Order: sequence, then structure tokens, then C-alpha cells
Amino acid sequence: MADKNNRGGWGLALLGGTIVAAIIVGNGGMPKFAPVKTDSGTAQAAQAAQAAPPLPAVGVARFHCPVPGAPVTQGFGPSWVMVNRVYIEPPYNGYSHFHVGLDLAKPQGAPIAAAEAGIVEKVDRNGYGTGKSAGYGNSVWIQVAQNREEFYGHLYVIAGNIQPGQHVAAGQIIGQVGSTGESTGPHLHFGVQEGGRWVDPAPMMNPC
Ligand SMILES: [Zn+2]
Repeated sequence: MADKNNRGGWGLALLGGTIVAAIIVGNGGMPKFAPVKTDSGTAQAAQAAQAAPPLPAVGVARFHCPVPGAPVTQGFGPSWVMVNRVYIEPPYNGYSHFHVGLDLAKPQGAPIAAAEAGIVEKVDRNGYGTGKSAGYGNSVWIQVAQNREEFYGHLYVIAGNIQPGQHVAAGQIIGQVGSTGESTGPHLHFGVQEGGRWVDPAPMMNPC
């Protein structure tokens, strides 16, 4: 929580998506926890603590691979892959092209299972994608926690019941592997955002 260069800083402790404490770290000092007072007070925090599922231990995967048996053909990180003379990957983390997810290769039509339960947030069925999904073809965003979203790109088809606002269970089939949008061949592009920033899904995922 503290800055690496020890300049001090602050953060917010989240419990089930509810801010329960501000954490203040001074120069070389011990973190101080200041309870955050909200309108609904500690009752809300207690409720959130009850509702929040237990966090997995460090090093334990929190979700299953959405395409079982698929090899990871491109990992998370700086990228030099160009498709149709276009870089799919946007600039990120100081790199001009950064692959913001995992590519899981399987033949077209292979089923894609939701990695985690959540609510469908955005669906693009136009074969290319719009806005933040542009270039990723037929794609689906699923909100799996208040600050956490998962993204599925390049689908061949999206299951008919996958519509914004719909609840999705972990393991539910959401569509089929394809190569729509800017893609080199059939694969699922799987991305995870936490607090609006891309994170590497690999350490959180069971082996495919
Ligand atoms: Zn990809």
C-alpha cells in the first residue's frame, strides 16, 4: 500500500467493495488505519463483510480458464504483433503496443465458458467492436465485482442470452471461439480489468 520509494502515501481498504478504512502511511512509519464514516456507518461495513466471499489465499487461482485445453499463444505484456497492418494492442504501461490480455487458441466454434460469475455489461455483435472493444470483433464485457471486469474478444458467435444486464454463472457458455475483428486466427482474447486498469489474468487463472 505504501509507495516503494517510501515517500508515504495513502490508500483505501475495501471490504466487499465498501470502503471501510483510509490507510495513511507516513515516511517510514507504520500504516495508520482511519475508519471512514459513511451515512450508513459501520452497519453497512458489517453487512458487506458478511456478504463478501472469502478471498482466496495468495497463489491460489480465483477462476477457471475460459477455454479449457487451449494453449496461451500470447501472454500479457509488450507486443509487436501486427494484423492487417494494424496493431490491435493499444499503448499501455509506457509501451507503444501492449497486449492487455491472454490469447487462448482453439478451433473456431470451441465453447467459451465464463471465468467468473457476473453481470453482462457490454456486448458487441457487429463483427468488429465499438469504443473500448474496437478491433476485438464480437465481444463481451462482464462485471464480476464492483471494481473488476472481464473481457472476451474475437468470438465467432455470442450466445443469444448474453445481453447487457443479464446474470452469468461461472462456467456458463457465453459463445464460441472465433477470429472476428483484428485477429491472426481463431482464439479467445481474454482480459481482466481491476479499477479500470488491465492486469495479467495468468496468475489468477487455473491452468487451461
Ligand atoms: Zn489478444
